[in-house]
Amino acid sequence: MAGWEQNVRKVIPYVPGEQPRQEGIIKLNTNENPYPPAPGVARALKEMNPEQFRLYPDPTASLLVNALAGRYGLSSDQIFVGVGSDDVLAMAFLTFFHGTKPILFPDITYSFYDVWADLYRIPYQCQPLDETFCIRPEDYEQENGGIVLANPNAPTGVAASLETLRRILEKNRDVIVIIDEAYIDFGGESAVSLIPSYDNLLVVQTFSKSRSMAGMRIGYAMGQSRLIQYLNDVKYSFNSYTMSQASLRLGTEAVEEEAYFSEVTNKIIATRERVKKELTRLGFVFPDSKGNFIFASHPGISAQELFEALKRENIYVRYFPKPRIQDYLRITVGTDSQMDILLSFLEDYTQSCFK
Ligand code: PMP
Repeated sequence: MAGWEQNVRKVIPYVPGEQPRQEGIIKLNTNENPYPPAPGVARALKEMNPEQFRLYPDPTASLLVNALAGRYGLSSDQIFVGVGSDDVLAMAFLTFFHGTKPILFPDITYSFYDVWADLYRIPYQCQPLDETFCIRPEDYEQENGGIVLANPNAPTGVAASLETLRRILEKNRDVIVIIDEAYIDFGGESAVSLIPSYDNLLVVQTFSKSRSMAGMRIGYAMGQSRLIQYLNDVKYSFNSYTMSQASLRLGTEAVEEEAYFSEVTNKIIATRERVKKELTRLGFVFPDSKGNFIFASHPGISAQELFEALKRENIYVRYFPKPRIQDYLRITVGTDSQMDILLSFLEDYTQSCFK
């Protein structure tokens, strides 16, 4: 090791899902939305004048912050925005998890949490989900330095009830509890309604899934104004201009088209429920997902082999070779026609396995 390497901050990075670019693939591996963003986004994009890019964007991101405040019935000082919810979550870890006690999150969850904890040298402890992939609220009643829960959880899709979250919040008034609601718009119960009751609750959401804008990188956090102030203090100590002018303008358009948002999310929910029935018919088992994906396993079929076979057919899904979940594939809910192609392949594949 070179001398200077001793002073390098060494980390084992998060591995994002593949982003294959070839034509004709069915991409069900990173939980993107198969439908385009709201029509107003395309209109606003056409109206954009590159001349304005000479100037720095508004560091307070007020256009987008105000639109989100209106949408969620909060005030502008209760909203923080960032470059995707990954940026918002990373900033929240840096801001709120600065103690010596371990932060807690489930053993099976979004695999970025332990990466940020390692990056910032935050001690952490993983609490095992039960055998049905549900969180056990009693596991979050011990001393800790903070809590992070994805709800619905990833990659399982399992949603915790507001009652469960309230119970956890009640027992943890002295630490920050982050609820990562990346997938909340597909049927879960949002913890936003609990914000007035808990000054230690931070709810994080994203434009990447329900608003079809993963490529624009927009995420946001909602909480009482003191939390948002602390987040902004860290943000302004790091990078004042996180949000590009394009993200601010186009994101605002997306928030304002509520009817389109409901139409798209309802369509995905309907497809998900139909695919659940079909997968059950083919012998797959899965926890009941409230996300835009299904975490499916088939007794007697190797998930890894199926993952490879799907890839050969240009159907990309996500496989996690990790303890407890190595028999599962996470399948994003695409359009009905994409799911029909997937299901027809699975029908043939399962038949050939059990001939
Ligand atoms: N949280 C969870 C649970 C996720 O699955 C993802 C998507 N990978 C994110 C946060 C981050 O999404 P984004 O940065 O696109 O908002």
